[in-house]
Amino acid sequence: MHSRLQIEERFRLARTVLITVWAVIALAIVFYTVHTAGRNAEGDILAEAGETLSVQSETLSGVLDKYRLMAPLLARQSSVASLFILNAEDNPQSIAAKGMAGALTGMSAASDVAFFFPDGALLGHANGPFVESRTGLEPLISAASQGRLGRAMLALGPEQRAYAFSSGVRRNGKLVGIVVVYVDFFRIEAAWALSNRPIYVTEEDDTIILANVPRWRMREADEILQDRGDRVGVPSDGEVRSYLDMSRRLPVLGWTLHVLADPAPIMSARASAGAIATLACLLVGLVALILMRRYETTILQARSDKATALRLERVVRDRTRALSESNQSLSREVETRRDAETKLRAAQAELIQAAKLAALGQMSAAISHEFNQPLAAIRSYADNGQKFIDLGRAEVTRDNLGRINGLVDRMAELSRTLLSFARKPGQATGAVHLGTVIEEALLLARPRARKAGVEIRLSGEIDTMTVSGGRVRLGQVFVNLVNNAVDAIGERPGGVVEIVAKRGENLAIVEVSDNGPGIPEQALDHIFDPFFTTKATGEGIGIGLSIVDNIVRDFGGKVSAHNGENGGAVFRVELLPADAKAMADV
Ligand code: ADP
Repeated sequence: MHSRLQIEERFRLARTVLITVWAVIALAIVFYTVHTAGRNAEGDILAEAGETLSVQSETLSGVLDKYRLMAPLLARQSSVASLFILNAEDNPQSIAAKGMAGALTGMSAASDVAFFFPDGALLGHANGPFVESRTGLEPLISAASQGRLGRAMLALGPEQRAYAFSSGVRRNGKLVGIVVVYVDFFRIEAAWALSNRPIYVTEEDDTIILANVPRWRMREADEILQDRGDRVGVPSDGEVRSYLDMSRRLPVLGWTLHVLADPAPIMSARASAGAIATLACLLVGLVALILMRRYETTILQARSDKATALRLERVVRDRTRALSESNQSLSREVETRRDAETKLRAAQAELIQAAKLAALGQMSAAISHEFNQPLAAIRSYADNGQKFIDLGRAEVTRDNLGRINGLVDRMAELSRTLLSFARKPGQATGAVHLGTVIEEALLLARPRARKAGVEIRLSGEIDTMTVSGGRVRLGQVFVNLVNNAVDAIGERPGGVVEIVAKRGENLAIVEVSDNGPGIPEQALDHIFDPFFTTKATGEGIGIGLSIVDNIVRDFGGKVSAHNGENGGAVFRVELLPADAKAMADV
């Protein structure tokens, strides 16, 4: 995977390339757009100007053609010819000629119609300044005399211009007069004045004869217009304006009609097209940059997501491995502990057994006394029985036999308890009757107590309570506690061991107390430790209370010790009360 820096570097490079390429393309597009827009605008302008040019050239040719033909047509009219004949001698300023000229002028809308004699003398005309002043008459007469159509541009000043056509009037092949038709350009120029484009007509000698700009009239085109390649410059108000020059030759007249078009729309079309193209390019570039930036962010994000996922995966894998390792080691430890516990339990069972046998050893003298006493009684009852049979006193003999039976029963009971105590107990627990347990324990402990002169008192709710535990092991608890109390009292006279049972909150409490010397303060914390003893070597091994503690804990209870008010020791055994219905003989 590429590093973040590498990716950013690549994108920076791509951005630079993109911007460069974009700049080149944008320049080309802007240039092309500006060029095309200019060309289109120029095309439009030229088309429009060309249209004007066509219309105006047609109009002009049409107008002048009409008057061009008018002169020869008039010359051929017999009525016109007769004007010259009739008035040849008498009246050159003939009324008839003037009248005809006036009528013709009115009909044709020519500015003047004049009739001249071949020598230039005027026969008559309608009106107008050109005839009176004879302006430009010479070439008109000479052309007409030679049988050609005469024509000439006449000007009395910029505002008084006319075009004249002349034709000779012949009678029987002889030139008798000349008809001249004058045309002014007032209407044409008036129509052109409506156009905002300069329109003008040049003669072959480059004189501007017609123009919708009054000050151009009758001036040389060179004086007014500057040639600028495909454009012409027109100075006005101190500055020179450029125009597109569209021109058309009018072949019959030898004139050239010009229409000048303002190229300003080309510039504005170029400017707006350029601006729009630039904006569009900028926008496209911007969008491309934004998209690219977004793409870069997405890639970087994806990369960081992937890295995070990988990191997480690695962490999870490591944790899982560590967990399964610790799990395995835990299982091993559990296994080891279980082994140790099994061994411990076995050792503990052995110890308990050993302790019991030790206790039995201690108690054996007292217990054998317990057996010997009924045996001696049985013997004397039996001896007496024999004597009473000899004497024939069957009643007394039966009574003795009954006593013997009772004593045997008692011995059998003691023997059974001894056996069950010496046997290894089962581990099972259940509800046991507290009275039974304590009775069995005392069966074993009492002979020793009696021998030592210690009285054992029972009180409280011993007979009514059931507790959770195992009968034999619980019996051992009380055998140990009573034996210890008897040991502690020792030779003291008036020794008493008291066993009290009472109910606590969810508890069955049995207290075993004595009136011995009590437990020394410094020993209190250690008496439940295994092998802690204050007794002389050979008298005790210090595991009695440790076994008591273990057994009570096994049954979910606890044992504690303190010294009572009379100075003797008090052992408090707390057990869990059991449901009476669940009582079992365990
Ligand atoms: P052992 O009886 O073999 O010494 P135990 O674990 O039964 O071992 O008792 C430990 C010690 O606790 C005894 O040595 C004794 O000092 C003390 N002890 C036990 N019961 C009593 C008691 N009723 N009064 C005074 N001390 C006692």
